[in-house]
Amino acid sequence: MSNRRNFLQKSAIGSFLTAIGILPIAACSTTEKAVATVVNNSKRTKPIAIATWNQNEAATVAAWKVIAEGGSALDAVEQGVKVPEADPEDQSVGYGGRPDRDGKVTLDACIMDEKGNCGSVCFLQHIKHPISVARKVMEDTPHVILSGEGALQFALSKGFKKENLLTEASKKEYQEWLKNTEYKPVINIENHDTIGLLAIDQKGDISGACTTSGMAYKLHGRVGDSPIIGAGMFVDNEVGGAVATGVGEAVLKTLGSFLVVELMRQGRTPQAACEEAVNRIAKKQEFKDIQVGYLAINKAGEYGAYSIQPGFNFALNDVEGGKTEDAKSLL
Ligand code: ASP
Repeated sequence: MSNRRNFLQKSAIGSFLTAIGILPIAACSTTEKAVATVVNNSKRTKPIAIATWNQNEAATVAAWKVIAEGGSALDAVEQGVKVPEADPEDQSVGYGGRPDRDGKVTLDACIMDEKGNCGSVCFLQHIKHPISVARKVMEDTPHVILSGEGALQFALSKGFKKENLLTEASKKEYQEWLKNTEYKPVINIENHDTIGLLAIDQKGDISGACTTSGMAYKLHGRVGDSPIIGAGMFVDNEVGGAVATGVGEAVLKTLGSFLVVELMRQGRTPQAACEEAVNRIAKKQEFKDIQVGYLAINKAGEYGAYSIQPGFNFALNDVEGGKTEDAKSLL
C-alpha cells in the first residue's frame, strides 16, 4: 500500500475516532476537524466517495482527498474519475480503452451536480479526459449533451489536447479479435469496468460522474448508457444518487439510475432500490447472459449495490477509511 494511501487511511480513521469521541478534536488536523464536525453535527450528512468496481479504489481515494480538504462533491467526482481515465492499464475507460469494431477508441462520460446541472459527451474521440469536457458542456454551454465531431471541436476550443488513445496492448487485443470478429460481451471481464463515482461533500451536497470507453468492439457510433443522464448516472440532492455499469442497452431500456433514485425518494433504502432496478431488467428482458450492476447512495450517506451476476464490486472512502465490498446478485 502506498504511503499516500496509508496517510489518507490514517487521517480518515483519526477523523472517525474523533467523530465517535475517542480522539479529542483538538488532536486532529484542520481537515480532520472539519470532517469530524460535520459528522458530529448532522445525522443526515455523512461525506463519502464511492465507485463501481474495486479496481477503482485509487479513484475513491482521490475523490475523498478533495472532500477531506473541504472541496465540493463536484470537484471530487471529477478528480476521482480522472484517475482511471488517465490509466493506460484500464481498458474500459479513457486512455487505453478498448476500441470499437473499426479500431477507434470512442468515449462516453457525464457529470451532474447538486443543483441538477449536468453535462455529457458521447462518441468522443482523441480526448483523454472526457469527464472534464462533460463538465465544460455543463458549465460553459446552454446544452447537456455534445456528441462526436462536435464534442471534439468543442473540447479543442476549450484547450484540450488531441491524443492517440489506442495503446499497443488494446491494439494487439483488437487485432486478435479481428480474426473471429465475434461480438459477445464477457460477463465481468471484458469491458465492464466503467467507473461511476458518487460523492457527498462536507456540506452534504451530492454529485456524480460516469465515464467509459463503452462496450469493446461495439459498432462505430454506438452510445451506451454511461453518458445518458438518468441511465448511467443520476443525482438528486434531496434524495441521493445512483450509477450503473454493465450492458448499457439493458440500463437504457429501463432508465436505471433515475429509477433507483426515484425508488429511494419513495422510501426504499439504496440496497432495496438497486435490487428493484435489477429485477426490473430481469422482468422485461433476456438477462441470464449479461451483467448489469447498480450502486447507490442516499442523502444520509448510506449505500447499496446489486447486480444480475455475481462478481460486481465497489470501492469507497469515508471517515472510517477505504474499503472494497462485493455486491449481492440476482443469480
Ligand atoms: N455501461 C457501459 C456501456 O454500455 C459498459 C460497462 O459498464 O461495462 O457502454
